[in-house]
Amino acid sequence: MFLETERVKVLGITIDAYTMQETVAQIRQAVESQVSIRVVTANPEMIYASDRDQRLKKLINSADIVTADGIGVVWAARRLGTPIGERVTGIDLIQALFPVADKAKWRIFFLGGKPGVAEQAANQVAREYPGIVWDAENGYFNTEGEPHVLEKIRSFRPDLLLVGLGAPRQEYWIAEHPGLAYVSIGVGGSFDALAGIVIRAPKRIQELHVEWFYRLCKEPWRWQRQSVLPRFVLKVLWQRLRR
Ligand code: UDP
Repeated sequence: MFLETERVKVLGITIDAYTMQETVAQIRQAVESQVSIRVVTANPEMIYASDRDQRLKKLINSADIVTADGIGVVWAARRLGTPIGERVTGIDLIQALFPVADKAKWRIFFLGGKPGVAEQAANQVAREYPGIVWDAENGYFNTEGEPHVLEKIRSFRPDLLLVGLGAPRQEYWIAEHPGLAYVSIGVGGSFDALAGIVIRAPKRIQELHVEWFYRLCKEPWRWQRQSVLPRFVLKVLWQRLRR
């Protein structure tokens, strides 16, 4: 069912060279043809971690669509000889999906975030896209609470399941519970942004591809996570040299 696309291996992770529009088209087709798929938006942090974690690498590579989440991955693909047109981040992807979901009246389940955040995010979305039918649950459940969450999702029968439990937990969670929706996507902290709790960088900063720097200034405690980026760059350059 998938559109022929070039794929590029970045530190062992196979990334699809889809544009945003192509990714949306693939997801739409999966929902329309009622085929169950898993989507991973792979950022440098996750790719770097998977280089030392075979289980994570297998998990990402077994997803149906793996997008280039961030300018670092787009840069790496170009360096390794397969240009990718643009980055496809989780938050941008779901925002591109909402108009499609609105028209087709998709059922979307928002799972993740602190109590109330997923509802707040879904409410905001539904205000703009009233055709979307939604339900939500927070992401702070333990093994005892999990059956309740699963039952809630199953009885809602979502077309699209957005899982914002943080990476890579959300990727494992989605793979461990197949068939909950036609399309499942790990979306990290996207609900915090949709609910207005975390403010994204202004459009101009996003276009300059320095959103990571804006985020670092706003949330300096993330520096440790972001320090992966230079190490990611070095590893990619090393991969290129070795070829
Ligand atoms: N989160 C959750 N359950 C947990 C831990 C985290 O739902 O047990 C949520 C958290 O509230 C946040 C998201 O997962 O909304 C992770 O956000 P982060 O910014 O770390 O993820 P990223 O977008 O960087 O992957």
